[in-house]
Amino acid sequence: MGGLITRIVADGAEAAALLRAGALVAFGTETVYGLGADATNDAAVAGIFAAKGRPHFNPLICHYPDEAAAWGDVVPNDAARSLAARFWPGPLTMVLPRRADSRVALLASAGLDSLAVRVPVGVGGLLRAVGRPVAAPSANRSGHISPTRAEDVIAELDGRIAAVWDTGPCAVGVESTVVDLCGPVPTLLRPGGVTRDALEAVLGPLAEPGTAIRAPGMLASHYAPDAPLRLNVTIPRADEAVLAFGPTAGQFQLSASGDLTEAAANLFTGLRVLDALVRAGGWSGIAAMPIPESGLGVAINDRLRRAAAPRGS
Ligand code: AMP
Ligand code: MG
Repeated sequence: MGGLITRIVADGAEAAALLRAGALVAFGTETVYGLGADATNDAAVAGIFAAKGRPHFNPLICHYPDEAAAWGDVVPNDAARSLAARFWPGPLTMVLPRRADSRVALLASAGLDSLAVRVPVGVGGLLRAVGRPVAAPSANRSGHISPTRAEDVIAELDGRIAAVWDTGPCAVGVESTVVDLCGPVPTLLRPGGVTRDALEAVLGPLAEPGTAIRAPGMLASHYAPDAPLRLNVTIPRADEAVLAFGPTAGQFQLSASGDLTEAAANLFTGLRVLDALVRAGGWSGIAAMPIPESGLGVAINDRLRRAAAPRGS
């Protein structure tokens, strides 16, 4: 990131080429400016969290040029098809079960079995040219308000991202509505550009977050391995599978060079790989080596602490 000059590009083809090359590019949708990255590129997705300075890994919305492309990464149900027909392209995000063969980085869905997908207005050409899902949260620093003009993005992220595609001011100006369609009753997770009344006209009554019955493992931000996980381990036991960071080897290496962006990109894959190793037998649990509490290390440690917390609550 150091020394990077953020360029304002006027051309969607240039923005698409940068995204395909793994760079971070902000662009305007009808809601707010998104901070985009190739969702199939682990390092690029980790770069989003680094650029925003996010202290935790919340799942990101993946953007597609059309409905058919979105269904390539998630399994739609009848409710999803009805909502897509009525509201896409538009300010509606649907959370659906992630396809097992999806190439979207695990970090983009924060290790969850679900994925948030949306078809936005105005950037279909860009998304088609990228040819891959584009993960994009709002293009602001963590805790700041969402930008609705290219100059707002520059004020927030200058020097932290490769480019902004100036698509003019955003029409809606508020984020997309997020509806979770994974459970038996659709649940409104976030109000936004599509009103609750408009959703209920298609779906019937919505559940409030927390009231619907959801499958274990589907709860936002609670991905945890089945295996016991010990944190900040400098001397692992012989029967522990080691989540390594830095020069000492382990059963899974987050980053041998101690690079926190690389470690973030590998985090959920590492937890899943080691969890499978423990499940297969021969290991008693997972021992995570210490990660520095700086930069992306804050978000990595936050997630490791949640993964190590007592279960069943
Ligand atoms: P932002 O990327 O800042 O626009 O925020 C994305 C919103 O979608 C947040 O409220 C996330 O918690 C929510 N979201 C994204 N993916 C998922 C998911 N797989 N499950 C539940 N909520 C999600
Ligand atoms: Mg935001």
